[in-house]
This record gives sequence, C-alpha cells and structure tokens, in this order.
Amino acid sequence: MQKQLDEILSGELLKEHKTVHAMIKIYCAKHHQTVHGLCGECSELSNYAKTKLDRCVFGQNKPTCNRCPVHCYRPEQKEQMKTVMRFSGPRMLLKHPLLAIRHLRHEKKPAPEVPKQNVSNRHLRKQAK
Ligand SMILES: [Zn+2]
Repeated sequence: MQKQLDEILSGELLKEHKTVHAMIKIYCAKHHQTVHGLCGECSELSNYAKTKLDRCVFGQNKPTCNRCPVHCYRPEQKEQMKTVMRFSGPRMLLKHPLLAIRHLRHEKKPAPEVPKQNVSNRHLRKQAK
C-alpha cells in the first residue's frame, strides 16, 4: 500500500510530500521516540497528506497549504498537522535546508485561482489510463 502510494505523486507534489514527511519524521522521533520511520499514528498522517496531495484541485500548481483557499483536511488531521508543523518548521532548515528553502520561497507566492478544470494529480492519473 505504502509503496504504491509513493509512486503516484510526481514533480512539485512529490517534493511537497517529501517535505511533509520529513516534518512528521522530526516530530515523531522527538515525541514518540521512533528511531526508524514513523509510528503508526504518524505514518497514517503522512499517508493522509499524500492522499490529499493526490487529490489537490490545484494539481502541480498547488500553493503551500497554509495559503490555500481550499480547506481539504478534516479538523482532526488539520490540528495534528498544525502541531507537527509548528514543532518541525523551525527545525527543517537545519535538517533539510533545500526542502525548507523551497517551501519558504513557495510560501511567498500568492495562492492561484482555483482551476476551473480538474487538474488534480489523481484526475490526470485516471485519464492517462
Ligand atoms: Zn509518531
């Protein structure tokens, strides 16, 4: 399941997920004492984020989530993610400077208009078949 999900994202969406995953990892290691990978709860959150990226209506033009006008997370996961970001955000520059800088640059861009057509990764994937 996890392997299959890893292969569905590409380009910006894949980088975005790598960033999110790295942030969850930092959080998990500190709070759940996980040495390798993620604990059950955190890997669920990472997979949830992946699904949301796959279905994001902006597709490859996705703005960073905190600038996004579309609120696609369920309240529970949203809170979880906020906690993770608040903790790991400042630590990302040290651990993953390239991903962190990309994310910060991205954050400066204004959010684009919601596309009229479905350009989500998932939609395009289904069409390609
Ligand atoms: Zn964890």
